[in-house]
Amino acid sequence: MTIPTTPRDPGEPPPRPARHLQPGDGWVECACGRRHWGLHGAAGLLLGRRDGLGVVREVVLQHRAPWSDQGGTWGVPGGAVGPDETPVEGALREAREEAGIDPATVRVLGERVLDHGPWRYTTVVAELAEGSVLEPRATDPESVEVRWVGVEDVPALPLLPAFADAWPALRAALDDGR
Ligand SMILES: [Zn+2]
Repeated sequence: MTIPTTPRDPGEPPPRPARHLQPGDGWVECACGRRHWGLHGAAGLLLGRRDGLGVVREVVLQHRAPWSDQGGTWGVPGGAVGPDETPVEGALREAREEAGIDPATVRVLGERVLDHGPWRYTTVVAELAEGSVLEPRATDPESVEVRWVGVEDVPALPLLPAFADAWPALRAALDDGR
């Protein structure tokens, strides 16, 4: 089955033409007048890593494939939430699929929801569990690259617009551990 290549809303994880549809995959006609990916909403994982003083220095970002909509931009790994998943479960599953992130290395701190009514995007704010080591990598064709990015370097990257908008609040949430 081919997924239609409809222009997407910023912040939305891209559809995946190279794989079979999973439960929850599909478009939602939103009250805002746009279409969003994820019948049960979508979710992404913002994973931070603290230094020895407890300060978040890096986050895992995904450089999205150039052929995808808004391709070439950077954002967090994520995708459609399944019908039987919480947003946290969906984000962790997607992060494992796309970025090789073992959920056992992730400590969830909180969630930030962009609520459009019929559709919502949840950013799961998390930190690398103490004592865990993680070298994220692109583990599906949707990513050019997945890596740790210094928090000071994030604004200079060509970010997905919705992620750029959310970044200051997300970084503050990471710093506060919530
Ligand atoms: Zn909407």
